[in-house]
Amino acid sequence: MTDEVCRRWRDLLGASLLDRLSPEERIGLEAHLDGCAECRAELAELRPVASALAAADPAHLGTPPSPPAELADRVFAHVRTVRRLERRRRWTLRAGAGIAAAVIAISVAFVVRPAPNPEREDFPFTTLPAGVVAKATLYRRTPGVEVWLQVQGLAPGATYAVWVERSNGERVRCGTFNAVAGNAHVVLPSTVRRPDTIAVGVSDSHGHVVMRAPVAPPKPPSRRHSIRAPASPDARPAMDLRYSDHEEAFRTEARDWLRANVPAERLPVADTREGFEAHRAWERTLHAAGYAGMHWPEAYGGKGASVVQQAIFVEEYLLAGGPERINTLGLNLMGPTLMVYGTEEQKHRWLPRILSADDVWSQGFSEPDAGSDLAGLKTRAVRDGEAFVVNGQKIWTSYGAFTDWIFAVVRTDPEALRHAGITFLAIDMRSEGVEARPIVQLDGHAGFAEVFFTDVRVPADQVIGEVNDGWSVAMTTLGFERDAPAASPARYLRAVNDLIGAARARGMDGDPVVRDRIAELYAGAQAYRAHALRTLTRLSRGERLGAEASMTKLLWSELEQRTYEFGRDVLGPYAEVLSPESPMRDARLWNAYYWFARAATIYAGTSEIQRNIISERVLGLPKG
Ligand SMILES: Cc1cc2nc3c(=O)[nH]c(=O)nc-3n(C[C@H](O)[C@H](O)[C@H](O)COP(=O)(O)OP(=O)(O)OC[C@H]3O[C@@H](n4cnc5c(N)ncnc54)[C@H](O)[C@@H]3O)c2cc1C
Repeated sequence: MTDEVCRRWRDLLGASLLDRLSPEERIGLEAHLDGCAECRAELAELRPVASALAAADPAHLGTPPSPPAELADRVFAHVRTVRRLERRRRWTLRAGAGIAAAVIAISVAFVVRPAPNPEREDFPFTTLPAGVVAKATLYRRTPGVEVWLQVQGLAPGATYAVWVERSNGERVRCGTFNAVAGNAHVVLPSTVRRPDTIAVGVSDSHGHVVMRAPVAPPKPPSRRHSIRAPASPDARPAMDLRYSDHEEAFRTEARDWLRANVPAERLPVADTREGFEAHRAWERTLHAAGYAGMHWPEAYGGKGASVVQQAIFVEEYLLAGGPERINTLGLNLMGPTLMVYGTEEQKHRWLPRILSADDVWSQGFSEPDAGSDLAGLKTRAVRDGEAFVVNGQKIWTSYGAFTDWIFAVVRTDPEALRHAGITFLAIDMRSEGVEARPIVQLDGHAGFAEVFFTDVRVPADQVIGEVNDGWSVAMTTLGFERDAPAASPARYLRAVNDLIGAARARGMDGDPVVRDRIAELYAGAQAYRAHALRTLTRLSRGERLGAEASMTKLLWSELEQRTYEFGRDVLGPYAEVLSPESPMRDARLWNAYYWFARAATIYAGTSEIQRNIISERVLGLPKG
């Protein structure tokens, strides 16, 4: 990353640890951290300071003075002013830390009674060497607890191992630390879940236990699950299996509308010009009825619908057999990205046209030598007056032969590090020099295109975000792609029902192997449904999933392949021949789903890449 780009984001690190960022700042910072190891390291360095603040014991601080009510806002307004002034000065690596320290120092005088945090619990050590002062804090994380230790008085330089003890007595090692002369702050992840944790401890290099803190069983939930109006943050459950009356009413309304409006005849396939335009007309019908981008904020033409309502609509849409959606890249990726990074002018220019499907968008990320390794992209853009001149090639561009616009990442500074020097551009597909060459698939249709750019002039006001900060913008876009529960569980539950019907029709429903496979797929679909509800609960609280979204992608894409593969076993010869006697309700569609399922573990990040992300960023395993 360039110093300039990092400087801007590092200014926000302190405020992020104190949870004082605006949603836009938070999303942008997370995206930047995804691609910048140095800033992640800086954040990790600052974290113990924030934790020390959170751990400050009010009992030892005497009676704190009462701050005036508006003080916090004034302090943060001042910090923002300082931040602006700081930007004009020469930046040093420590600027972010300095500001964070200032914020923390100011805060410590007054913010000494942190709000109860349901995820966090403190435990004293009952086994402790003489002269050592220590405290253990556990945070509930996925998949296991995170251990925070503060320890003073151990022999400086000596190495110690930290472990979590399971209820069966097994000690699971989290990692090691070297004792220091002063107060050591240690943060280590573990895979042991909170209910299974009975102690945390520290052993010396000979394996002798030097410190142990027993961990009490977690408190049982005291009230019925409900996320709609939690009485206190402590009462928040992981998921809510009920819909409110309002949501049920919305479901009925959506179902009725879909029943009356979903075309009785299948539209021509969207991978042809005729079919694409028929689908565009359908998008316009959805928009006129208020169902396009209903989850967008009202300020941008949406309905401000909750993520739960959006999920209900998708579920009903699938059950009603609604046509394929052709502008999901505009509605779910480009629109939300513009809301975060676009100027007011850009928002007014493109957002309404995305909703009305006047502009249908493609995604121009992948290149012949840059797929999983997106930062290897080579498409160049060179500034020439008020425009950028673009040369290069994109590939696997969905609907690329028919779309109106493409959002693309291009290299604007070839001298910079790989993740830096990239810019995010909106390019009109009708510009001179853009050539979309259809890639014809086995089914004879052109679902993809290769898009070639030859001296394409792109006005500079079509840069989204800042020049050379396109990696942050692109990571935000991918974050939207991963956060959304892209595949509705309704689809898999419906597929299992179809399988049961087909197995019965073919007289296979008594076969124990078939029954076993169907039961496994049904359990998988229900497990995914539970996971999706948990995800929705978190999204409806305004949380972002970050790296955990990779688990969702892995779950649905692999379930999809198992489901449609088994369908071929059940269908036997009918899997190959479209016959009116087929035991499957919609054999043509089932066949298409089977083939498309092959791609599910590739697009939006391959399964291998998802596993890399989960192992490194969720489980904290070392890079392989
Ligand atoms: C249906 C479909 C629609 C698509 N639509 C679009 C689109 O609209 N716009 C767009 O820009 N792109 C699109 N893509 C492209 C997609 O993003 C890429 O195919 C994907 O990112 C993988 O890149 P690749 O094909 O170059 O494979 P590669 O990155 O070359 O990967 C090849 C194999 O190596 C493995 N691999 C690579 N790196 C690692 C690693 N570090 N560790 C372990 N294994 C690794 C991969 O998992 C894979 O198995 C689409 C793809 C599909 C299938």
